[in-house]
Amino acid sequence: MYSSKKPPMTLLPKAPGLTLEEVAIDAEMVSLSVESTCPSAACPLCTQKTARLHSRYLRTLADLPWGGCSVRLSLRVRRFRSLRSECPRKIFAERLPSVVEPYARKTTRLHEILELFGFALGGEGGTRLLRRLGMKASPSTLLRYVRGSAEVAYSQPHAVGIDDWAFRRGHRYGTMIVDLERHAVIRTETESPEEDNATCFSAGSLTPKRPRIWYERQLEASRGRHERIVEQWRNIRRLHLAGADVHDIAKRLGVSRESVYRYRRMEEPPEPVRFRHKKRVLDPYVPYILRRWGEGCRNGTKLYREVREQGYAYGASNVARLVAELRRAGVGSGGSANDRTQGGVLLPDKATVPTARQAAALLLKRTQKLTVDQKAYLVRLGTLDKALADAYRLTQEFAKMVRRLEGEKLDWWLEEADASEAAVMRRFAKGLKKDLAAVRAGLTESWSSGPVEGFIHKLKLIKRSMYGRASFALLRSRVLGAS
Ligand SMILES: [Zn+2]
Repeated sequence: MYSSKKPPMTLLPKAPGLTLEEVAIDAEMVSLSVESTCPSAACPLCTQKTARLHSRYLRTLADLPWGGCSVRLSLRVRRFRSLRSECPRKIFAERLPSVVEPYARKTTRLHEILELFGFALGGEGGTRLLRRLGMKASPSTLLRYVRGSAEVAYSQPHAVGIDDWAFRRGHRYGTMIVDLERHAVIRTETESPEEDNATCFSAGSLTPKRPRIWYERQLEASRGRHERIVEQWRNIRRLHLAGADVHDIAKRLGVSRESVYRYRRMEEPPEPVRFRHKKRVLDPYVPYILRRWGEGCRNGTKLYREVREQGYAYGASNVARLVAELRRAGVGSGGSANDRTQGGVLLPDKATVPTARQAAALLLKRTQKLTVDQKAYLVRLGTLDKALADAYRLTQEFAKMVRRLEGEKLDWWLEEADASEAAVMRRFAKGLKKDLAAVRAGLTESWSSGPVEGFIHKLKLIKRSMYGRASFALLRSRVLGAS
C-alpha cells in the first residue's frame, strides 16, 4: 500500500475549501479522504449564511478512475445550525454542488461521464466498456441517466427538416424534426398509424386510389411479355413468308436463331404463358382489407385482428406484408406503370434499344452529358411522340430549376406542365400544387433534407444497437442526447 500526504490537488473535483487529507492506493482501489473546510455555509431554505457547526458525517462517493483504477472519495461534510429562528430547517448539511448532488453516491463529474457513455453506447455496451476503464455502472443505471438527463432547450430554429421513420414497420411511425442550422435533432415523436396519416396527408393527397398489389403487377408484366413475343412472331413470320432464311431473319430482327426456328413455322401466335397466381391463405380476405385500407385504416395489427374475427386462421405476417405493400404502392409518388409504356417505340435494331429504365435515365441526364447517339435517340423519340417530347422538355426544365434553385420559375413551369400533352407531367404538376409552399421552398432555399436523412440513419443505428428492446421514450432520449 502506498500513502502520501501531498497529492496533486487537480485530481480532485474542483470546489472551494476542499482539502485532501489522505490517499490510500491498493491493487483495485484508490481511496481519498477529503474534507470540506469552508468556514460557513448557506442554509438551502432561507439562504442565510451560518458558521455554527453542528456535527460532521462521512459520505462515500465514487469518482472518476485514475488510470483504470477505481477511485473512492471519503468526503467529510459538516452539518450546520440554521441562524434564523423562523426557518423550519434547524440543521442542514452543507451543499457541494460542483462535487456531488444531495443524496448521490457518485460525484457529479462521474455522473456526467456515465451519462455520455449511456448516450453513446446504451446500457449493455456502455457497462462493458466502463468496466474496462475502471468505472462501475449497471446497464439499467446508464439507461436511467439517459432517461433522466435534462433536455436541452432550443431557441426558435430558422430552418427545420422533417421526415418520417418507422419505429416498427407497418405499425408505428415517427417524425423527426431537425434544426438545419445547428445540425441537431429538435424533436422526434411517434404516433399511431391512423393519426400519422391524418397529419401527414391532410392536404388531401390520400384519396386512396386503389393501389396495385403485387400479383396484379405480375399479371401486367406477363401480359407485356406476351405482347412482345407476339410482335416478334409476327415479324419473323412475315420475313419467313417473304423467303428470308434463318440467318437473315435473326440478323435483321436482332433475335436469336433459336427464336427464328421456334416461331417461323407457327401459323398462330404463341399462347401466353399463363401466369399462375398461387392461391394464398389470405386471398379470401384481401378484398376486405383493401376496402378497410380505402376507408383509411392503416393499422396492420388491427386489420389482422379484424380478418381473424372473420375466420382467417393464419399468422399476422401475411397481413403485415400486404399492408407494407399497400403502403409502398399508395404513399409512393409518381405515376403507375402505364405511364412508362405510353411512349413505347419500336426501333429496328435490338442492340441499340434501351430498356424502359435506361430510356428514363436518358430523359433525366443533363443534355451536355449525352453522347451523340443518345441525343439522336431522344430526338427520334420526340418526333415519334409529342407527349414524350413534352415530358422530356419539362423534365429537363424541372431538373434545371432544382439544380439552380430557381423557385421563381415554378409557376411558369406548372402552367407549361398543365398545358402539355404528357399526362404524367400534368399529374405530377397536380401533385406539386397540393404542397406548393413546400415545393417552392425546396426550389428556393438552399437547405437540404440531407441532415434529416443522416439523423434518421443514426436513429436506426442506435435502435439496432439496443437489440430491438428500446422503448420509444429511451430511443428518443438517446437520439436527442446524441445529436
Ligand atoms: Zn434556514
